[in-house]
Amino acid sequence: MKVPRFGSPTIRLALSYLAIIMTLSLGFSILFYSTSSGSLHVEKQNSSGAILPTGPQGSFSMRTDSGPTAIPSSGSGIDAQLQQRLNAVRSDLLHRLIALNLGALLLGFFLSYYLAQRTLRPIEAAMEAQARFSSDASHELRTPLTALRTRSEVALRKPDLTLDEAKAVIASSIEQAIKLQDLSSGLLRLSRDNGKNLKRQSIWLDEIAGEALNRIREIAQANHIDLQLTVPHVSILGDVESLTQVITILLDNAVKYSKPGGVIRLTGGSEGKRGFLKVHDKGVGISPADVPHIFERFYRADQSRAHKVKDGHGLGLAIAKQLTEQSGSTISVESTLGKGSIFTIKLPLARL
Ligand code: ADP
Repeated sequence: MKVPRFGSPTIRLALSYLAIIMTLSLGFSILFYSTSSGSLHVEKQNSSGAILPTGPQGSFSMRTDSGPTAIPSSGSGIDAQLQQRLNAVRSDLLHRLIALNLGALLLGFFLSYYLAQRTLRPIEAAMEAQARFSSDASHELRTPLTALRTRSEVALRKPDLTLDEAKAVIASSIEQAIKLQDLSSGLLRLSRDNGKNLKRQSIWLDEIAGEALNRIREIAQANHIDLQLTVPHVSILGDVESLTQVITILLDNAVKYSKPGGVIRLTGGSEGKRGFLKVHDKGVGISPADVPHIFERFYRADQSRAHKVKDGHGLGLAIAKQLTEQSGSTISVESTLGKGSIFTIKLPLARL
Protein backbone atom coordinates (compact mmCIF):
# COMPACT_ATOMS: atom_id res chain seq x y z
CA MET A 1 0.00 0.00 0.00
CA LYS A 2 1.25 3.47 -0.90
CA VAL A 3 1.85 5.58 2.25
CA PRO A 4 0.86 9.18 1.51
CA ARG A 5 3.23 12.05 2.33
CA PHE A 6 2.27 14.54 5.02
CA GLY A 7 0.84 17.51 3.14
CA SER A 8 -0.42 15.35 0.28
CA PRO A 9 -3.98 16.18 -0.92
CA THR A 10 -5.35 12.98 0.73
CA ILE A 11 -3.88 13.87 4.13
CA ARG A 12 -4.98 17.50 3.84
CA LEU A 13 -8.55 16.50 2.96
CA ALA A 14 -8.54 13.85 5.73
CA LEU A 15 -7.44 16.52 8.24
CA SER A 16 -10.24 18.82 7.11
CA TYR A 17 -12.77 16.01 7.57
CA LEU A 18 -11.23 15.24 10.97
CA ALA A 19 -11.49 18.90 12.00
CA ILE A 20 -15.22 18.83 11.16
CA ILE A 21 -15.76 15.57 13.08
CA MET A 22 -13.84 16.84 16.13
CA THR A 23 -15.58 20.24 16.13
CA LEU A 24 -18.94 18.47 16.18
CA SER A 25 -17.83 15.93 18.80
CA LEU A 26 -16.29 18.58 21.11
CA GLY A 27 -19.26 20.92 20.59
CA PHE A 28 -21.75 18.21 21.58
CA SER A 29 -19.56 17.15 24.53
CA ILE A 30 -19.33 20.71 25.91
CA LEU A 31 -23.07 21.19 25.46
CA PHE A 32 -23.82 17.85 27.09
CA TYR A 33 -21.44 18.54 29.99
CA SER A 34 -22.83 22.01 30.70
CA THR A 35 -26.50 20.96 30.52
CA SER A 36 -25.88 17.83 32.61
CA SER A 37 -23.93 19.61 35.33
CA GLY A 38 -26.53 22.41 35.28
CA SER A 39 -29.36 19.96 35.93
CA LEU A 40 -27.27 18.17 38.60
CA HIS A 41 -26.82 21.52 40.35
CA VAL A 42 -30.56 22.22 40.24
CA GLU A 43 -31.29 18.72 41.60
CA LYS A 44 -28.83 19.26 44.41
CA GLN A 45 -30.49 22.58 45.31
CA ASN A 46 -33.91 20.92 45.27
CA SER A 47 -32.61 18.15 47.52
CA SER A 48 -31.06 20.69 49.94
CA GLY A 49 -34.23 22.80 49.84
CA ALA A 50 -36.34 19.79 50.75
CA ILE A 51 -34.43 19.42 54.04
CA LEU A 52 -35.51 22.31 56.26
CA PRO A 53 -34.52 23.03 59.85
CA THR A 54 -37.77 22.87 61.98
CA GLY A 55 -36.94 21.61 65.43
CA PRO A 56 -34.34 22.60 67.96
CA GLN A 57 -30.80 23.31 66.85
CA GLY A 58 -29.08 20.26 65.41
CA SER A 59 -32.23 18.46 64.28
CA PHE A 60 -33.93 18.61 60.89
CA SER A 61 -37.21 17.55 59.51
CA MET A 62 -37.91 16.43 55.97
CA ARG A 63 -41.14 17.27 54.34
CA THR A 64 -43.02 14.15 53.36
CA ASP A 65 -46.63 13.52 52.45
CA SER A 66 -47.32 12.30 55.97
CA GLY A 67 -45.78 15.38 57.58
CA PRO A 68 -42.35 16.45 58.75
CA THR A 69 -39.88 13.65 59.69
CA ALA A 70 -36.89 14.40 61.86
CA ILE A 71 -33.45 13.63 60.49
CA PRO A 72 -30.78 13.40 63.10
CA SER A 73 -28.00 14.97 61.18
CA SER A 74 -26.44 18.34 60.64
CA GLY A 75 -27.52 20.42 57.52
CA SER A 76 -23.99 21.42 56.49
CA GLY A 77 -22.89 17.73 56.63
CA ILE A 78 -25.57 16.65 54.16
CA ASP A 79 -24.80 19.64 51.97
CA ALA A 80 -21.12 18.71 51.90
CA GLN A 81 -22.01 15.09 51.10
CA LEU A 82 -24.26 16.16 48.23
CA GLN A 83 -21.57 18.53 46.96
CA GLN A 84 -19.04 15.67 47.11
CA ARG A 85 -21.37 13.36 45.18
CA LEU A 86 -22.01 16.14 42.67
CA ASN A 87 -18.27 16.72 42.16
CA ALA A 88 -17.67 12.98 41.74
CA VAL A 89 -20.47 12.69 39.15
CA ARG A 90 -19.15 15.74 37.32
CA SER A 91 -15.57 14.44 37.25
CA ASP A 92 -16.79 11.00 36.12
CA LEU A 93 -18.79 12.67 33.31
CA LEU A 94 -15.76 14.75 32.31
CA HIS A 95 -13.52 11.67 32.16
CA ARG A 96 -16.05 9.77 30.07
CA LEU A 97 -16.41 12.69 27.67
CA ILE A 98 -12.60 13.02 27.35
CA ALA A 99 -12.32 9.27 26.66
CA LEU A 100 -15.17 9.52 24.15
CA ASN A 101 -13.47 12.40 22.33
CA LEU A 102 -10.11 10.60 22.25
CA GLY A 103 -11.92 7.60 20.74
CA ALA A 104 -13.63 9.92 18.25
CA LEU A 105 -10.22 11.40 17.36
CA LEU A 106 -8.71 7.98 16.66
CA LEU A 107 -11.72 6.55 14.86
CA GLY A 108 -12.32 9.88 13.12
CA PHE A 109 -8.78 9.87 11.73
CA PHE A 110 -9.23 6.48 10.04
CA LEU A 111 -12.73 7.35 8.87
CA SER A 112 -11.55 10.72 7.49
CA TYR A 113 -8.62 9.10 5.73
CA TYR A 114 -10.89 6.48 4.15
CA LEU A 115 -13.42 9.12 3.05
CA ALA A 116 -10.68 11.39 1.68
CA GLN A 117 -9.26 8.52 -0.35
CA ARG A 118 -12.72 7.69 -1.71
CA THR A 119 -13.42 11.32 -2.58
CA LEU A 120 -10.10 11.86 -4.33
CA ARG A 121 -9.90 8.55 -6.24
CA PRO A 122 -12.21 9.55 -9.17
CA ILE A 123 -10.67 13.05 -9.30
CA GLU A 124 -7.15 11.60 -9.43
CA ALA A 125 -8.22 9.11 -12.11
CA ALA A 126 -9.71 11.94 -14.20
CA MET A 127 -6.55 14.04 -13.78
CA GLU A 128 -4.35 11.08 -14.75
CA ALA A 129 -6.48 10.42 -17.84
CA GLN A 130 -6.22 14.11 -18.76
CA ALA A 131 -2.44 14.09 -18.36
CA ARG A 132 -2.15 10.88 -20.41
CA PHE A 133 -4.36 12.39 -23.10
CA SER A 134 -2.21 15.55 -23.31
CA SER A 135 1.04 13.59 -23.43
CA ASP A 136 -0.30 11.16 -26.10
CA ALA A 137 -1.66 14.08 -28.12
CA SER A 138 1.65 15.98 -28.04
CA HIS A 139 3.50 12.80 -28.97
CA GLU A 140 1.21 12.29 -31.98
CA LEU A 141 1.59 15.93 -33.00
CA ARG A 142 5.39 15.81 -32.73
CA THR A 143 5.92 13.16 -35.44
CA PRO A 144 4.32 14.98 -38.41
CA LEU A 145 5.68 18.32 -37.18
CA THR A 146 9.24 16.95 -37.03
CA ALA A 147 8.91 15.43 -40.50
CA LEU A 148 7.56 18.74 -41.85
CA ARG A 149 10.36 20.78 -40.30
CA THR A 150 13.23 18.42 -41.20
CA ARG A 151 12.28 18.09 -44.87
CA SER A 152 11.76 21.85 -45.24
CA GLU A 153 15.09 22.67 -43.53
CA VAL A 154 17.04 20.16 -45.65
CA ALA A 155 15.47 21.57 -48.85
CA LEU A 156 16.19 25.15 -47.79
CA ARG A 157 19.86 24.39 -47.11
CA LYS A 158 20.35 22.78 -50.52
CA PRO A 159 21.92 25.39 -52.84
CA ASP A 160 21.05 23.58 -56.09
CA LEU A 161 17.43 22.64 -55.28
CA THR A 162 15.56 21.82 -58.47
CA LEU A 163 11.94 22.72 -59.14
CA ASP A 164 10.89 19.06 -59.00
CA GLU A 165 12.59 18.60 -55.62
CA ALA A 166 10.93 21.75 -54.31
CA LYS A 167 7.54 20.47 -55.53
CA ALA A 168 8.14 17.10 -53.79
CA VAL A 169 8.91 18.90 -50.51
CA ILE A 170 5.77 21.02 -50.85
CA ALA A 171 3.67 17.90 -51.61
CA SER A 172 5.04 16.13 -48.54
CA SER A 173 4.40 19.24 -46.42
CA ILE A 174 0.78 19.31 -47.60
CA GLU A 175 0.43 15.61 -46.70
CA GLN A 176 1.77 16.25 -43.19
CA ALA A 177 -0.46 19.32 -42.84
CA ILE A 178 -3.53 17.20 -43.74
CA LYS A 179 -2.52 14.64 -41.10
CA LEU A 180 -2.15 17.41 -38.52
CA GLN A 181 -5.53 18.82 -39.49
CA ASP A 182 -7.18 15.38 -39.10
CA LEU A 183 -5.48 14.85 -35.79
CA SER A 184 -6.43 18.25 -34.39
CA SER A 185 -10.08 17.89 -35.45
CA GLY A 186 -10.19 14.41 -33.87
CA LEU A 187 -8.67 15.72 -30.65
CA LEU A 188 -11.04 18.64 -30.61
CA ARG A 189 -14.04 16.37 -31.09
CA LEU A 190 -12.93 14.05 -28.29
CA SER A 191 -12.29 16.83 -25.79
CA ARG A 192 -15.23 19.07 -26.68
CA ASP A 193 -18.11 16.68 -27.28
CA ASN A 194 -19.83 16.06 -23.99
CA GLY A 195 -23.13 15.05 -25.54
CA LYS A 196 -24.99 18.19 -24.42
CA ASN A 197 -25.84 19.24 -27.96
CA LEU A 198 -27.14 15.85 -29.06
CA LYS A 199 -30.77 15.67 -30.19
CA ARG A 200 -32.20 12.26 -29.31
CA GLN A 201 -35.10 11.54 -31.60
CA SER A 202 -36.63 8.65 -33.51
CA ILE A 203 -34.75 7.98 -36.74
CA TRP A 204 -34.81 5.29 -39.44
CA LEU A 205 -31.89 2.88 -39.21
CA ASP A 206 -31.75 2.25 -42.99
CA GLU A 207 -31.63 6.01 -43.68
CA ILE A 208 -28.58 6.72 -41.51
CA ALA A 209 -26.86 3.56 -42.77
CA GLY A 210 -27.48 4.67 -46.38
CA GLU A 211 -26.15 8.16 -45.64
CA ALA A 212 -22.95 6.76 -44.07
CA LEU A 213 -22.48 4.44 -47.01
CA ASN A 214 -22.76 7.38 -49.44
CA ARG A 215 -20.05 9.23 -47.52
CA ILE A 216 -17.48 6.49 -48.09
CA ARG A 217 -18.62 5.24 -51.51
CA GLU A 218 -15.87 7.11 -53.34
CA ILE A 219 -13.00 5.79 -51.17
CA ALA A 220 -14.43 2.27 -51.43
CA GLN A 221 -14.59 2.53 -55.23
CA ALA A 222 -11.03 3.81 -55.33
CA ASN A 223 -9.99 0.69 -53.38
CA HIS A 224 -12.17 -1.63 -55.54
CA ILE A 225 -14.23 -2.61 -52.52
CA ASP A 226 -17.83 -3.72 -52.93
CA LEU A 227 -20.39 -2.26 -50.47
CA GLN A 228 -23.58 -4.17 -49.63
CA LEU A 229 -26.48 -2.76 -47.60
CA THR A 230 -29.22 -4.94 -46.03
CA VAL A 231 -30.70 -2.82 -43.26
CA PRO A 232 -34.48 -2.96 -42.59
CA HIS A 233 -36.75 0.07 -42.08
CA VAL A 234 -36.49 0.10 -38.25
CA SER A 235 -37.09 3.17 -36.09
CA ILE A 236 -34.46 3.76 -33.41
CA LEU A 237 -33.70 6.50 -30.85
CA GLY A 238 -30.55 8.56 -31.25
CA ASP A 239 -28.84 11.62 -32.68
CA VAL A 240 -28.80 11.52 -36.51
CA GLU A 241 -25.42 13.17 -37.07
CA SER A 242 -23.56 11.31 -34.30
CA LEU A 243 -24.80 7.89 -35.37
CA THR A 244 -24.09 8.61 -39.03
CA GLN A 245 -20.55 9.64 -38.01
CA VAL A 246 -20.11 6.41 -36.01
CA ILE A 247 -21.18 4.22 -38.97
CA THR A 248 -18.94 6.27 -41.28
CA ILE A 249 -15.92 5.68 -38.98
CA LEU A 250 -16.63 1.92 -38.94
CA LEU A 251 -17.06 1.78 -42.73
CA ASP A 252 -13.95 3.88 -43.24
CA ASN A 253 -11.94 1.46 -41.07
CA ALA A 254 -13.44 -1.52 -42.87
CA VAL A 255 -12.20 -0.03 -46.16
CA LYS A 256 -8.78 0.84 -44.68
CA TYR A 257 -8.19 -2.63 -43.27
CA SER A 258 -9.58 -4.62 -46.24
CA LYS A 259 -7.59 -5.82 -49.21
CA PRO A 260 -8.53 -4.35 -52.61
CA GLY A 261 -11.36 -6.32 -54.18
CA GLY A 262 -12.94 -7.13 -50.79
CA VAL A 263 -16.57 -6.90 -49.69
CA ILE A 264 -18.05 -4.85 -46.84
CA ARG A 265 -21.56 -5.66 -45.64
CA LEU A 266 -23.80 -3.40 -43.60
CA THR A 267 -26.66 -5.35 -41.96
CA GLY A 268 -29.23 -4.49 -39.31
CA GLY A 269 -32.40 -5.50 -37.53
CA SER A 270 -34.08 -5.59 -34.11
CA GLU A 271 -33.93 -7.97 -31.15
CA GLY A 272 -36.28 -7.45 -28.18
CA LYS A 273 -36.17 -3.77 -27.20
CA ARG A 274 -33.02 -3.00 -29.16
CA GLY A 275 -32.10 -2.40 -32.75
CA PHE A 276 -28.69 -3.34 -34.09
CA LEU A 277 -26.40 -2.49 -36.96
CA LYS A 278 -23.36 -4.54 -38.03
CA VAL A 279 -20.40 -3.67 -40.22
CA HIS A 280 -18.78 -6.87 -41.58
CA ASP A 281 -15.44 -6.91 -43.38
CA LYS A 282 -13.08 -9.63 -44.58
CA GLY A 283 -9.97 -7.60 -43.89
CA VAL A 284 -6.86 -8.09 -41.75
CA GLY A 285 -8.80 -8.77 -38.55
CA ILE A 286 -7.71 -7.91 -35.00
CA SER A 287 -5.68 -10.12 -32.65
CA PRO A 288 -7.36 -11.16 -29.35
CA ALA A 289 -4.67 -9.21 -27.45
CA ASP A 290 -5.61 -5.98 -29.26
CA VAL A 291 -9.41 -6.32 -29.12
CA PRO A 292 -9.79 -4.96 -25.53
CA HIS A 293 -7.75 -1.85 -26.42
CA ILE A 294 -8.90 -0.72 -29.85
CA PHE A 295 -11.50 1.69 -28.42
CA GLU A 296 -8.81 3.48 -26.37
CA ARG A 297 -7.47 6.82 -27.57
CA PHE A 298 -4.34 6.60 -29.77
CA TYR A 299 -4.33 2.79 -29.75
CA ARG A 300 -3.24 1.23 -33.05
CA ALA A 301 -2.85 -2.52 -33.37
CA ASP A 302 0.40 -3.86 -34.84
CA GLN A 303 -1.26 -5.39 -37.89
CA SER A 304 -2.55 -1.95 -38.92
CA ARG A 305 1.10 -0.85 -39.23
CA ALA A 306 2.06 -4.15 -40.89
CA HIS A 307 -0.83 -3.63 -43.33
CA LYS A 308 0.86 -0.28 -44.11
CA VAL A 309 -2.18 1.76 -43.18
CA LYS A 310 -0.55 5.09 -42.65
CA ASP A 311 -3.58 7.30 -42.21
CA GLY A 312 -4.96 7.25 -38.75
CA HIS A 313 -3.94 8.14 -35.27
CA GLY A 314 -5.94 5.61 -33.31
CA LEU A 315 -8.71 8.13 -32.56
CA GLY A 316 -11.54 6.91 -34.84
CA LEU A 317 -12.86 4.13 -32.61
CA ALA A 318 -12.43 6.24 -29.44
CA ILE A 319 -14.62 8.92 -31.06
CA ALA A 320 -17.10 6.24 -32.26
CA LYS A 321 -17.36 4.82 -28.73
CA GLN A 322 -17.86 8.25 -27.16
CA LEU A 323 -20.56 9.18 -29.68
CA THR A 324 -22.45 5.86 -29.38
CA GLU A 325 -22.49 6.05 -25.59
CA GLN A 326 -23.69 9.66 -25.68
CA SER A 327 -26.53 8.51 -27.97
CA GLY A 328 -27.57 5.80 -25.47
CA SER A 329 -26.15 2.98 -27.62
CA THR A 330 -23.27 0.51 -27.28
CA ILE A 331 -20.51 -0.62 -29.61
CA SER A 332 -18.61 -3.93 -29.65
CA VAL A 333 -16.41 -6.02 -31.93
CA GLU A 334 -15.85 -9.66 -32.85
CA SER A 335 -12.79 -10.34 -34.93
CA THR A 336 -10.55 -13.14 -36.20
CA LEU A 337 -7.01 -12.28 -37.20
CA GLY A 338 -6.54 -12.66 -40.94
CA LYS A 339 -10.25 -13.32 -41.54
CA GLY A 340 -12.07 -10.10 -40.78
CA SER A 341 -14.13 -8.20 -38.21
CA ILE A 342 -17.75 -7.48 -37.30
CA PHE A 343 -18.47 -4.22 -35.44
CA THR A 344 -21.92 -4.10 -33.81
CA ILE A 345 -23.84 -1.05 -32.61
CA LYS A 346 -26.85 -1.74 -30.36
CA LEU A 347 -29.39 1.06 -30.27
CA PRO A 348 -32.61 1.67 -28.31
CA LEU A 349 -35.73 1.16 -30.43
CA ALA A 350 -38.12 4.10 -30.72
CA ARG A 351 -41.72 3.57 -29.58
CA LEU A 352 -43.93 4.62 -32.48
P1 ADP B 1 -6.94 4.24 -36.78
O1 ADP B 1 -6.87 5.66 -37.09
O2 ADP B 1 -5.63 3.63 -36.46
O3 ADP B 1 -7.72 3.44 -37.76
P2 ADP B 1 -9.06 3.60 -34.93
O4 ADP B 1 -9.31 4.13 -33.57
O5 ADP B 1 -10.14 3.80 -35.94
O6 ADP B 1 -7.70 4.22 -35.39
O7 ADP B 1 -8.77 2.06 -34.82
C1 ADP B 1 -7.87 1.60 -33.83
C2 ADP B 1 -7.19 0.34 -34.28
O8 ADP B 1 -8.14 -0.72 -34.37
C3 ADP B 1 -6.60 0.43 -35.68
O9 ADP B 1 -5.30 0.95 -35.65
C4 ADP B 1 -6.62 -1.01 -36.15
O10 ADP B 1 -5.49 -1.68 -35.65
C5 ADP B 1 -7.83 -1.58 -35.45
N1 ADP B 1 -9.01 -1.65 -36.33
C6 ADP B 1 -10.07 -0.83 -36.35
N2 ADP B 1 -10.98 -1.22 -37.27
C7 ADP B 1 -10.48 -2.34 -37.84
C8 ADP B 1 -10.95 -3.23 -38.87
N3 ADP B 1 -12.13 -3.05 -39.46
N4 ADP B 1 -10.16 -4.27 -39.18
C9 ADP B 1 -8.99 -4.48 -38.57
N5 ADP B 1 -8.47 -3.69 -37.61
C10 ADP B 1 -9.21 -2.62 -37.24
